[in-house]
Amino acid sequence: MTQIAKNTVVQFRYNLSDVEGELIESNHDSDPVAYLHGHGTMIAAIEEALEGKSSGDQLNLTLPPEHAYGARKENAEQRVPIKHLQGLPKGVRSWKPGMVAVVKTEEGIRQVTVVKPGLKMVVIDTNHPLAGQTVKYDIEVVDVRAATDEEIAHGHAHGVGGHHH
Ligand code: ZN
Repeated sequence: MTQIAKNTVVQFRYNLSDVEGELIESNHDSDPVAYLHGHGTMIAAIEEALEGKSSGDQLNLTLPPEHAYGARKENAEQRVPIKHLQGLPKGVRSWKPGMVAVVKTEEGIRQVTVVKPGLKMVVIDTNHPLAGQTVKYDIEVVDVRAATDEEIAHGHAHGVGGHHH
């Protein structure tokens, strides 16, 4: 059975919950997440814990903020054009304070929280919504396979749960 190592593509399902056990996010009803192991695309503490594991293995990780989504930063508010925000839920017409949006930055896609929406500009909190929180990941490895040359060249997984071009 293939073990998780650099240049393997890992598929897993997870439940993400807070320290009280309240479920925050899960992908048990959708496609598993796929990532290319050893390329820094996954939360480092999760990659570390998955190293050497194989299909069917389960992990229960408790991650303090510094190993998960970082400490909450002060003065992290920014004013950006409202058209930069993505991820408005279906059927919702406008952004409201407290909603989580997705923005594309030079470092990739990140989640932010809407603080003060305006007509053209919006104030966002650039902290990840889970910044400053200890979180629990319950992970089940679904599949492990060798990455293709193309995936290694691109630095990400293709196919189900991965990157689509
Ligand atoms: Zn690619």
